[in-house]
Amino acid sequence: MGGRYLKENMSKSKRMKYEQLLEQRFPEVKWREPLPIIITRGKNDLIGFACRFCIAIEGFAPSKGNMKGFSATESDAREHISREHIMI
Ligand SMILES: [Zn+2]
Repeated sequence: MGGRYLKENMSKSKRMKYEQLLEQRFPEVKWREPLPIIITRGKNDLIGFACRFCIAIEGFAPSKGNMKGFSATESDAREHISREHIMI
């Protein structure tokens, strides 16, 4: 993996700083609303919801197993957002 994807162990404080920055720079984006998505992977397309913070900060690389922030249901996605992206 190159440097394109940030490391899994990015410190919590650094992540929170990026999240804050995103919310300030792009206030029109509903950051805490799950984003409906389809991930195409050949025969096994996945349909579900993504966390906008996770996509914006870390990106999705399903082929490499980086599916952080993907949830099959909207309620799981909301739970992820409230648990992982605490509002400051
Ligand atoms: Zn997330």
